[in-house]
Amino acid sequence: MHDIDIDLVEMTLDVVKYAINRITKTNPELGKPKSEQELRSLVGETITANGIGGENAFNLFKEVLIKATVPIDHPRHLAFVPASPTRAAIMFDLVTSASSIHGAYWMEGAGGIYAENEAMRWLVSLTGLPEKAFGVFTSGGTAANLSGMVTARENWRKVPENKNKKGLIITSSGAHSSIKAMAKVIDADIVLVPSNNVMSKEDLQKAIAALSIAERERLFAVVATGGTTNAGIIDDLKGISEVCKQENLWFHVDAAYGGGALAADSVRHLFQGIENADSITIDPHKWLFSPYDCGAIIYKNPELAKEAHAQEGSYLDIFKDEGAQGFNPSDYQIQLTRRVRGLPLWFSLATHGTDKYKSAVEKGISLANLASKIIQENPIVELVREPSLSCVLFRRKGWTATEYRDWTYKNHREGFALVTPTKWKTGNDYETVSRFCFINPDTTEEDIRAILKTME
Ligand SMILES: *Cc1c(COP(=O)(O)O)cnc(C)c1O
Repeated sequence: MHDIDIDLVEMTLDVVKYAINRITKTNPELGKPKSEQELRSLVGETITANGIGGENAFNLFKEVLIKATVPIDHPRHLAFVPASPTRAAIMFDLVTSASSIHGAYWMEGAGGIYAENEAMRWLVSLTGLPEKAFGVFTSGGTAANLSGMVTARENWRKVPENKNKKGLIITSSGAHSSIKAMAKVIDADIVLVPSNNVMSKEDLQKAIAALSIAERERLFAVVATGGTTNAGIIDDLKGISEVCKQENLWFHVDAAYGGGALAADSVRHLFQGIENADSITIDPHKWLFSPYDCGAIIYKNPELAKEAHAQEGSYLDIFKDEGAQGFNPSDYQIQLTRRVRGLPLWFSLATHGTDKYKSAVEKGISLANLASKIIQENPIVELVREPSLSCVLFRRKGWTATEYRDWTYKNHREGFALVTPTKWKTGNDYETVSRFCFINPDTTEEDIRAILKTME
């Protein structure tokens, strides 16, 4: 559709001006949600037979809609896993959209896919996987985990007696919710290894030994976590990989959040064993400073992923013809049509160099250590556990769950900070505690002190 009746140049300038403003702003306003009803009364009808015009729509976005969102890159947004896309990556996200590249097949997207693959090669090099290993960018960790699990399951089902069996996966209770959700999608059962901490080699051995014979025959994969979302805990990847090898099980490492820390020399040793994985999930949109959405699934043997994922269709045959040979991202994960979502990461890596990425990740880890030190010096709070990667769990002495919740809402309402409570299990009890997750290298010591001050 051609936008013949709008002033294209003017509109483009407006949009680019907005983008420049937003990209250079380091302390954006911390917005808060409004109810749907409120938004409706503020925004009114926008989809009409004749359109309301670009200027009107853009003004509504700038004056109402954007203010009802929380910028994920605010330096005092330390909840969930925040984000902090580089300016270079955000700029190139605009360029990626403007370039209209189809990222499914080499035949159409070769130049874009080539650049994505350069970024992927660096990502793969961080894992220490053997030479043939490779991966593809996905919409996020959930899609990456699903793609890895489908590959594992299809590989297992190549053995004729597994054809009609329902699969079974072992993971730890600290694993991300998407593992359980994606097990439902592939209709596999999950056995959760209870663990308040690291899933160890022995934990896994015990869990396997506790299976019935029929269950053991259905077990095809183990999912370890390379940095739990809640506490940054890294399972015993080396020990688990040894068990998987011995038991002939697919070894998937979910490092959606923690994977960025593979670039950090100070903690790289904690990931020992990840080089034995059959598949690894890493989210560049979490700790590798990419804009949403950008996940990645990496395979030790990409051919197995291709066997599981390549789609067949008469109108797709042309992509498999000789003249079109090249890397087809669609063959290695669940999505067909896709944007070249690795391009912003590529441009940013090419612009800054990998050393800058190393130091930006190290910054998150040192902010966690700094917060830990400040918490230990402050009598009203205490650490729940030593920080792990960039996660700090701490307690405001004497507070109930309601007080944590009210405190969160108050800071959010005032546009000051977004820091949310979480739960931590000690013995059999779940306790409500508070949590910092540091991603943004622009977060300062003053930010940390000011947030703790609001707990007084
Ligand atoms: C965030 C996260 C996921 C899910 O990733 P999305 O990009 O949100 O789909 C999966 N696993 C872990 C460990 C995560 O931290």
